Formats: sequence, C-alpha cells, structure tokens
Amino acid sequence: MAKKKSTKPNTDTLLTWWDKNRRAMPWRAEAGKPANPYHVLVSEFMLQQTTVAAVIPYFLKFIKKWPSVQALAKASLEDVRAAWAGLGYYRRAKFLHDCARMVMEKHKGRIPDTEEELRALPGIGAYTAAALAAIAFDHKANVVDGNVERVMARLFACAEKMPAAKAVLRKHAETLLPKKRFGDYAQALMDLGATVCTPRNPQCGDCPLQTTCLARGAGQPEAYPRKTVKKKVPKKKAVVFVVQDKKGRVLLRRRPEGGLYAGMWEFPSTPWALKEASLKVVNNHAPAPLGWHTPKERIRHVFSHFELEMTLRLGHSKGTIVQHNGEYRWSAWRDLPHIAMPSLMHKVAARAEPALKKKKR
Ligand code: SF4
Repeated sequence: MAKKKSTKPNTDTLLTWWDKNRRAMPWRAEAGKPANPYHVLVSEFMLQQTTVAAVIPYFLKFIKKWPSVQALAKASLEDVRAAWAGLGYYRRAKFLHDCARMVMEKHKGRIPDTEEELRALPGIGAYTAAALAAIAFDHKANVVDGNVERVMARLFACAEKMPAAKAVLRKHAETLLPKKRFGDYAQALMDLGATVCTPRNPQCGDCPLQTTCLARGAGQPEAYPRKTVKKKVPKKKAVVFVVQDKKGRVLLRRRPEGGLYAGMWEFPSTPWALKEASLKVVNNHAPAPLGWHTPKERIRHVFSHFELEMTLRLGHSKGTIVQHNGEYRWSAWRDLPHIAMPSLMHKVAARAEPALKKKKR
C-alpha cells in the first residue's frame, strides 16, 4: 500500500539556507556567537511597527549614547525621547526607559531570559518576550511577527482571513519549531519573509521551503494570507500655530502624559477633530491674537487609525502669549532636531520656518 504523503511543511532546509543568506544587522551576533541581550532588547523595541532600514541609524546612535542597560536606566526620559524623535510610536521610548530601570531594580541589571519574566517588564508583550527569549538567549519560543505570519499562511495555504487567522498561524508555527538553534530559526523565518516570501512577487524558486509549500503547490502564493477588506480610516483636521518671537524662537507646548505622543513637544494647535475648527475654536486655542499668515498648502499625516490634515497659521508674537492648558517653552529653530518632537511636528517646522523668515514682522 502506498504511503500517504505528509502535508506538514518541512523546514529542515531553512537553517542551511539562512547560514548562507542571513542579513547582517548591527544588533545581531556574528554566526555561532552569543547575542548581546541589551542590543536585542533595544532593537526589538525599535522594530515594533518600524522597518529595519529606519531603525539602523537610530539603534547605532542609541547604543553609542547608552551602551548598556545600566547607562540607559540612568538617562533622563527627556534625553531618551529626544533620541527617539523621528522614529514614531513614541510610547516605546518611555517603555524602554522604564524597562531598563526595572531591569536594574528587580533583576540587578541582568535582562531576564524567560518569556514569563520578560512579559512582566514594561512595553514587552507576547511577541517581544518570545523574540527576546529566542534571539537573545536561544530559548525555545514561538516568535511570530508579520513576516512569519505570511510564511505560515502560505506554507499551510491557510483559509482563514486576517486578522482572525493570527491564532491559527501561531499554532501552525508552533508545530514547526526545531529542536535546537531556536534564535537562528526565529531570525531565519523572519529573513525568509522579508527577502524571499515577500508580500508581492515571492521568489518561490529561491525558497528553501518550496517543496512542501501548499500555496506554491496551488500556484497562488500571493493569495495568502487572505485578508478582510479594510475599513476606511477617519480624517481629522486641526489648525496648528507656529508663533515666532523677536529673538527668532518658536513656541512649543508639551503634550499630556498618556495617549498619542505622550510628553513630547509640539506646536500648539486646535484639538484634532473630525470637523473643521470654527473661528471661535481657532480663537480659543490661538496662543496670540489672530491676523496671521495662512499658507495654502496643508500638512497631512497618516496614523494607524486616522489621517490628520493640518492648516498652518504663522505669526510673530507682538506681546503676551496666551498659555492655554499645558506647559510651554520657546526654542530656537536650530534646536528643534534635538528636542523630543514627533516627525509630524518636524514636517510642520519644515514648512513654517522659510515662510516665517520671509514674512516681514
Ligand atoms: Fe513563500 Fe513561495 Fe517559499 Fe511558499 S515557496 S514559503 S510562497 S516563497
């Protein structure tokens, strides 16, 4: 009687492929050497929602400034936020700083190596704990990021649609875990997803898993993971005020602790709302009397759950500044890159500075 063919994908060839094709990254250990857990910790925080290419310069600058978890724990939150400016998802900066402090207080400066202990640290969820356990400590852990989900969805030709399919894909990934080289395996799967099993035009001919991949067998790898049609995100609007004083400095306001861009600096604005701000609302939030210059162009920024369109109002302060709720400060234009400001506000500054300098007082 003919032996029934197994439908379970075979990943034996993956590590051999990775040994030849691994991507070099500044936080990765050289082949066969142990990883630096602090480097892996910083990189995993930075890589949440952010590409490798965007993270590399930030990572290098960050570990040069704070080369150990001890050094990071001693840094001020303001400095950590400033080093993070431009990288986005700013809550991560505070979480990483809190995390370093907790490692010092509760673990005597040693980053814990179990998923359970790691999950108890600030800003570390299931994925980051698994990634740290595997990559930093070579412990067995099921590390499933977006790249791995895509590879699993294709290997198993998973019929469930995302995001509901996530739980199923995790289970599939669990069944394929190797018996050793857990950190290498986790990184190999991620690299495969990032470089070969890409969202569009996967290079199945170069893939070490091609012989048992069900999506390839069916001739439609790009059909997986199956997706639910996305809802449109709401559009919010606001008026942002850039006011310059006689010394050529601009007024900044600190955002509240908690919520989007917590504790970072911004140009004052009307609330970000679904409706256009009325004249009354604009007057109520302007830090100085109106009569300002309004450039025609709008500044647009896309967040994960809404889009924002900002109208610029530019003015020179002629007297008292009205400080609404919050903490305010003046800053020279040249100091803005060193202040913890989200990239959206750097976009505002880039449009406002030449216009304000050109406009006569
Ligand atoms: Fe992805 Fe193609 Fe490899 Fe399947 S064979 S895992 S679809 S690259």
